[in-house]
Amino acid sequence: MDMQEILDEIVAHVAPLCLQGEVASYIPSLGEVSPDSFGICVAMADGEVFGAGDWQKPFSIQSISKVFSLALVMSYDYDSIWKRVFREPSGTPFNSMVQLEADRGIPRNPFINAGALVVTDRLLSITGDAAASVRGLLRQESGNPEVEIDALVAASEADHGHRNASMAHLLASYGNLENPVDEVLDSYFKQCALAMSCEDLAKASRFLARHGVAAGGTPFLSPNQSKRVNAVMLTCGTYDAAGEFAYRVGLPGKSGVGGGIVAIVPGRCSITVWGPALGPNGNSVAGIAALDEFTAKTGWSIF
Ligand code: GLU
Repeated sequence: MDMQEILDEIVAHVAPLCLQGEVASYIPSLGEVSPDSFGICVAMADGEVFGAGDWQKPFSIQSISKVFSLALVMSYDYDSIWKRVFREPSGTPFNSMVQLEADRGIPRNPFINAGALVVTDRLLSITGDAAASVRGLLRQESGNPEVEIDALVAASEADHGHRNASMAHLLASYGNLENPVDEVLDSYFKQCALAMSCEDLAKASRFLARHGVAAGGTPFLSPNQSKRVNAVMLTCGTYDAAGEFAYRVGLPGKSGVGGGIVAIVPGRCSITVWGPALGPNGNSVAGIAALDEFTAKTGWSIF
C-alpha cells in the first residue's frame, strides 16, 4: 500500500467538496477562514508521517481540544470525573442545554460543550491552568514547541460566548463547577483557540493509537484508559452525527467547528483532516468524505 499515493488521491477527490457547507461564523474570527483549504495527515504508530494538501497549515482546533483535556484529567484522576459527567451520546447539538436541566446539571458526555466545561473545570483544579496544561501536552506530543493559543480567536469567542456562559452558570447552579464561572470559561475558550496543523494534531493524538504510550515512549494513559477515550470519541465525538460518522468512517473520531477531525485506528495510526466548511451537524464535509475514502481504501477500521 502506497500511503502517499492514497493521500494524494483523497486530496484530489475531496477538493470540490470544500465549497459545500458553511464555515462556522458564530465565532466571528472563525468565519474569516477561507473554505478552500484541505489537508490530511497520517501519523503511524511506529513514527512515520505522511501528509497531503494543506497538512502543515495551522487552524483552530476548537472541540478537538476536548480529547486532550479529558485524557489529561483521566491521567491524573482516573475515575472521579465520571461522577460529574455521563458518557452517553446526546443526540442533540454540541451547544444544547435542554438535557442539562433535565439531567440536573450532569452533562451527557465530555465532548459536548457542557461536559467539556466540567472537564476543564476539573483540570483547572488539578493543574491551576487548564489551557496551559492542554497546550503543554500538545507541544510535547506533537514535538512542536510553537503550538500556541490564538488570542484573537479566544477573545472573539469570549465576546460571543453567551451560550457557553449560560451553560457554565447552569452547571454552577447545580454545584457541578469547582471554580468560578469566569475562570472556567476563560480556560475553555483558550483551549478551544489553540492553533495547530494536521501534522501537529496527528502526531499529538498518536498516543491514542499506541494504547496510551506518549511520544517519548513512556505511558501517558494506561491501555485501558486509552481504550476508554477512544470509545467516547466513537460514540460522542462528532456531535449529533456520531452514528453517521461510525457508519461512514468506522473509527473513533473527534471534530471541531474549525473544520478539523482527528480519527484513530487503534494500534496503527492517527489521522487528521481539515476542511473549514461544515455540514448541518458541524462536521467538516470534505473531512468526513476524506476519512470515508481513507478507511475504504486502506480497509483500516475498527469494524
Ligand atoms: N469553542 C466552540 C464552542 O464552544 C467549540 C465548538 C466545537 O468545536 O464543537 O462553541
